[in-house]
Amino acid sequence: MDLINPATEEVVASVAMASAADTDAAVERARRAFARWREVSPGDRARLLRRFAELVDEHVEELADLEVAEAGHPVTQARWEAGNLRDVLLYYSAAPERLTGHQIPVPGGLDVTFHEPLGVVGLIVPWNFPMPILGWGLAPALAAGNTVIVKPAETTPLTALRIGELALAAGLPEDVLTVLPGEGPVAGRRLADHPDVAKIAFTGSTRVGRELMAACAANVKRLTLELGGKSANIVFADADLELAAATAPGAVFDNAGQDCCSRSRVLVQRTVYDRFMELLEPAVQAVVVGDPRDEKTQVGPLITGAHRERVASYVPDGAPVAVRGSAPSGKGFWFAPTVLAGDGVTDLPAWREEVFGPVAVVVPFEDEADAVRIANDTPYGLSGSIWTRDVGRAFRMSRAVEAGNLSVNSHSSVRYWTPFGGFKQSGLGRELGPDALAAFTDTKNVFISTEG
Ligand code: NAD
Repeated sequence: MDLINPATEEVVASVAMASAADTDAAVERARRAFARWREVSPGDRARLLRRFAELVDEHVEELADLEVAEAGHPVTQARWEAGNLRDVLLYYSAAPERLTGHQIPVPGGLDVTFHEPLGVVGLIVPWNFPMPILGWGLAPALAAGNTVIVKPAETTPLTALRIGELALAAGLPEDVLTVLPGEGPVAGRRLADHPDVAKIAFTGSTRVGRELMAACAANVKRLTLELGGKSANIVFADADLELAAATAPGAVFDNAGQDCCSRSRVLVQRTVYDRFMELLEPAVQAVVVGDPRDEKTQVGPLITGAHRERVASYVPDGAPVAVRGSAPSGKGFWFAPTVLAGDGVTDLPAWREEVFGPVAVVVPFEDEADAVRIANDTPYGLSGSIWTRDVGRAFRMSRAVEAGNLSVNSHSSVRYWTPFGGFKQSGLGRELGPDALAAFTDTKNVFISTEG
């Protein structure tokens, strides 16, 4: 498959796509490697992961360049993404020696628990944050003693392939990490169906997540799902309005809106709605959309021409566009940041559906109850933000909004040492943080009699 640079429409590279038979062969090799990898001592597994992290660190620039070329991400963001992979590897490199069980008091003997690795783990990764999402599954899975097959997204396999080489260079044994570029319905689906794959960790659309959940049911396969979102940014009249308006564009337009945590529904208390819109307009106009290689660029192009068409369909002729930012013309899959607001806006598909592009919808609300009702009126529940100076309200709203990741007076949502995941149809299970290893292990209870 030809990989296209989304900023220039030039062919970057051509990559072979794995067939179902290739996938079966990779699973067989990973299954054999598991028997050896789980026996590597915790200290040695930790050392190998640390070495892997060091090599990623030494190759941040190279990895960032690949990301810029195949995904069109601004170079400063791409460096952050490679750094995130390094940090996640380092964080979980501390896990092998700390993967302790319990010793539980019982009569007549000793009872202990072990966290056993599952076996071969299939990681199915999307194109929107190829390196971080790869790391969030890879690092805890390897630390816990599993072997891993990564199926990167069709459009963004290059960073994953390079990361696979770095793993080998770091000394990870052959077939402990396999990178298998392939089409979702072929290689991805085969991983979900394969009886020797013990677990699927999937990040992608809710539609495919639902399909994979059904596929995994056949073998009662373990499954983690990180799916879509339609998150709310809720601004109360008592908030720091200047800061809320200045940061709202980044919360929805970063990564060209191709972010599951994008706060694409902006809810503003009616009494400050007009003032907020006045402040929002220059903030949207100031977003720098352009050449991803330029250090000043904040937002790059969309991933493909087909995706741009899809995003554009959410802003039909006559849609109530309140603000439109700028974007380059000519080659590249550009789309200017767009804010929809005003009469009829909640009748548009952009209000309910995940656009996965730089399109925000702003609506007014009356009071706390109204804000909660609007925020929760979605099948999704991934993230969200609450802007208020009233600490009681901040807590009430944080408990009432149905989402896995909320931030108050900020838009941060993913720190690798805190849990990340969705409520409702945004996902199943949690990644990152201290408990992620539980998603890649099964607990075994052993009773040893002292009577015999
Ligand atoms: P997608 O579901 O089309 O693809 C994701 C991955 O699944 C790709 O590797 C693809 O090849 C594979 N795939 C596609 N069809 C498959 C099938 N039938 N069987 C097995 N695998 C299959 O999603 P996308 O367009 O690449 O990514 C965008 C979506 O990902 C958005 O909905 C976004 O919200 C979501 N996402 C969620 C999170 C999160 O953490 N919750 C993070 C990033 C992206």
